[in-house]
Amino acid sequence: MNVDLHCHSNVSDGVLPPAKVAMVARQAGVDVWALTDHDEVGGIPAARAAAAEQGMRFVTGVEISITWANETVHIVGLQIDENNAALVQGLEATRSGRDNRGREIAAQLAKAGIPDAYEGALKYVSNPNLMSRTHFARYIVEIGACRNTSEVFKKYLCEGKPGYVEHRWATLEQSVQWIRGAGGIAVIAHPGRYKFSDTAQGALFDQFKQLGGAAIEVVTGSHTPDQYPEYARLANGYGFLASRGTDFHAPGEARVDFKLLPPLPGNVTPVWHDWF
Ligand code: AMP
Ligand code: MN
Ligand code: MN
Ligand code: MN
Repeated sequence: MNVDLHCHSNVSDGVLPPAKVAMVARQAGVDVWALTDHDEVGGIPAARAAAAEQGMRFVTGVEISITWANETVHIVGLQIDENNAALVQGLEATRSGRDNRGREIAAQLAKAGIPDAYEGALKYVSNPNLMSRTHFARYIVEIGACRNTSEVFKKYLCEGKPGYVEHRWATLEQSVQWIRGAGGIAVIAHPGRYKFSDTAQGALFDQFKQLGGAAIEVVTGSHTPDQYPEYARLANGYGFLASRGTDFHAPGEARVDFKLLPPLPGNVTPVWHDWF
């Protein structure tokens, strides 16, 4: 069974509408699918309907931006009630700083020789409440300043680069409470992508576990293949379930295609082990 529990639509920083993402996933052989837009559940009704039409099992999801130890971390919520009031309010609050942050990113980019980036990024935004660094990256590729979005992140948008703006997201506690309060399962997204020392990563896992976090992503488009066994071992060591997802954003822009993402290693317990 092909289970993909991490995907984005144009309701956050993906390029396809939710129903199109469902089609692409199904055509690539996905049987169980979650849409996990950043800080947003607005795409879920359309995604659910499209998944049903495609004969694909649907899982509600969201990817919440948090700040932990002064770093941005992403917490995925699965099997959430997307209408839960505290969750909806929490996500709204999390999104609310994004527009001002976008203006600051643009101001810094202007100083670095990229003018009018707010207006430029806005052309790629479908959800006015969700301006993302990815939208800036697409604009900077459009004007020819970089060849692809990952080069833009390296040159302009990552921490320490001229277009990086410090931002305070939700807390780990809040994200896990919102997810669990909405009946969901909290998952640390792409743990191998953060720049933590082993000690700091261990502290994150311990605290997440204590709060009721249940799983970590093991096989994700945001991990390198040598990180799959590493995070499988860590999942088992900490007693976490293991999740899997492409982190799909756009055809051709993906770090890994739907069809190329391997299954979970056999020694972990999948987060979906008791779902059906
Ligand atoms: P934001 O939530 O606005 O800070 O944007 C975060 C998003 O930027 C992530 O969800 C990814 O889609 C994208 N992103 C972050 N780092 C990179 C990178 N190095 N290369 C490509 N995309 C990235
Ligand atoms: Mn993204
Ligand atoms: Mn993420
Ligand atoms: Mn993601």
